[in-house]
Amino acid sequence: MNKIEHIGIAVKDLEKSNELFAKLLGKPHYKTETVESEMVRTSFFQTGESKIELVEASNPDSAIAKFIEKRGEGMHHIAFEVDDIEKEIARLFSEGFEPTGSSKTPFRGADNKLVFFFHPKTTNGVLIELCQEIK
Ligand code: ZN
Repeated sequence: MNKIEHIGIAVKDLEKSNELFAKLLGKPHYKTETVESEMVRTSFFQTGESKIELVEASNPDSAIAKFIEKRGEGMHHIAFEVDDIEKEIARLFSEGFEPTGSSKTPFRGADNKLVFFFHPKTTNGVLIELCQEIK
């Protein structure tokens, strides 16, 4: 795995949180994007070589809505950049890590990335995202 590509933060109100994080980081977000398959709206801030991704549920059935219901707003996942996502997924499966869903293949996430998630129950309570830039 390479650098921490971004840290995902679950928020209730993307517009309000965009303002808050713009104050915190001293710069505005540079994009907003809806990911229909995940039922979320996201926004991104560049912080050095990593990013902050704010994630808001666009539907009450979204995993983000359930996360906020249970644990409130806050840190949701850490995303690592990888060069070969299929290879890293296979490696983590062989090490006994379990995915969040039943699929074993990466899918298209926000920010022009192929992504895949490993369940926090097998990773010390931290939801792990792998992401690879789509070229
Ligand atoms: Zn993410």
